[in-house]
Amino acid sequence: MDLDRHDFQLDELVQRIKSNDNRLVALQVPEGLKMQALEMMDKIEDDSDAKVILAADPCYGACDLVHDKMRAMGVELVAHMGHSQMNIDSGMPTQFISVTYDGEPEIEGILPILRSHLSIAQSRIGAKISADLNEEDAHRIFLDAVGRFSPLKATKLGLVGSIQHLHLLPKYKEMLEGAGFEVVIPTGGDRLTFPGQVLGCNYSGDNDEIGHYLFLGSGDFHPIGLVLHTGKPLALLDPYTGDSSEMSFGRIERILRQRFGLIMEIDNAKTFGILIGEKPGQMRRNLAIRMKRVLEKHGRKGYLLALDHVSPDLIDFYPVDAFVNTACPRIAIDDSVRYDKPLVTPYELEVALGEKKWENGYQFDEIP
Ligand code: SF4
Repeated sequence: MDLDRHDFQLDELVQRIKSNDNRLVALQVPEGLKMQALEMMDKIEDDSDAKVILAADPCYGACDLVHDKMRAMGVELVAHMGHSQMNIDSGMPTQFISVTYDGEPEIEGILPILRSHLSIAQSRIGAKISADLNEEDAHRIFLDAVGRFSPLKATKLGLVGSIQHLHLLPKYKEMLEGAGFEVVIPTGGDRLTFPGQVLGCNYSGDNDEIGHYLFLGSGDFHPIGLVLHTGKPLALLDPYTGDSSEMSFGRIERILRQRFGLIMEIDNAKTFGILIGEKPGQMRRNLAIRMKRVLEKHGRKGYLLALDHVSPDLIDFYPVDAFVNTACPRIAIDDSVRYDKPLVTPYELEVALGEKKWENGYQFDEIP
């Protein structure tokens, strides 16, 4: 990753520090940009009278705003870099700092992939659910990558990206429309700040007019979640490398097989640790308590465990048979192999207990 091509918009932060006459500021920086954190601290301290404390714990999202511990240290303002505000209040004044990347990859390589995905979407819209369609035929026609009935109303191309590339979306929408696609930049719910934005735990801009997707960004974190959530074909264009590719349904099937294996493993589990995330944007206490009640209903035992960071060394030793995670949904999906005991999502627990049906299609654990 070429860090020199990132634009860190610190001016607004410095103005706010000066106008508030803040003396102690906490800086929170995502993992991929921590190498440049000291440089940013120098710039803020040179341009203002404030001292800067780096909140050096891992930070993976705006769900993870530093809060009361920094207040106890006397911090007056939190500068949170590289993520956008979501529908939470950490209780601390917070300035969100945009980071943009200036790479603009060519679209020629992605067009054949998008055309093949458009025909998949067209085949889904072409099939109509008739009243006398039996279940087997309905499955054959509408089964998407995650095994749901997904009748589409249209086959638009949904254009989405990770936050540092969102400024590209209007220009790419125009280019893709010029190449013959009907393009929409979806607007999601309150957890998402910008049109076209996706998070690893929220793809709420999806709707039945979108038949396939193009993601502008790198890595497979957002793409895996997007396909698990929507079941729709997804093309990938990486602004860092210029590479065009697609998320293979084979990859998604492997993940689903692993999830199903874990559901089978907890079939006979009697005791569960129910993880509650302490980070402001991951805290789902009500869901955790509901899971405890569901377990009780089925004669099982659930222990509520609250943590800031979830990791194997912090939970594996508890004498329970399995864990249910209500903190960041991606801990169970992406990291479960790191844990000695089965680690499942609330939906997966409900499938194991017979409260929900796997046959109705995989339900991604979204935080609204
Ligand atoms: S909850 Fe997880 S996926 Fe969602 S923003 Fe936080 S770190 Fe990302």
